[in-house]
Amino acid sequence: MASKLYSIFSLKCPTCHRGELFPTPSFSFSRPFDQYTHCPACGQTYFPEPGFYYGSMFISYIGSGFFCLGIVMFFRWILDWSMIGSFIALLVIVGVLFVWWFRVARSVWLGMVYGFKPDVAAAVDAGTLHIPPPETSNRT
Ligand SMILES: [Zn+2]
Repeated sequence: MASKLYSIFSLKCPTCHRGELFPTPSFSFSRPFDQYTHCPACGQTYFPEPGFYYGSMFISYIGSGFFCLGIVMFFRWILDWSMIGSFIALLVIVGVLFVWWFRVARSVWLGMVYGFKPDVAAAVDAGTLHIPPPETSNRT
């Protein structure tokens, strides 16, 4: 379970935990929706079928809904800010986190389908796999 959480929140390949899911850091805001077509370390595909990531939109929707409620309740009830101030704080926080959250939702969805394979990770570490460099894609 801990390794699953590691691969999800570090945005790593769910199969080998070595390759990145995205070519750019989340907080660079550079090419935010580009994703590798497959793992650069082990070759695991990140797009197993057309429309694969539709399910991740539900992960994103549910998570961000509760997150937004929590943020507004925190600023309004705990810090006693005005309602307008609480929503402005929410907009700023969501504006900073939206790329990261988009990517985590995709990582959760991918992690629900693929599990960690220690033999693949060992092969990656040994350097015995020869994977062609992945292309980047912003397909949904
Ligand atoms: Zn991999």
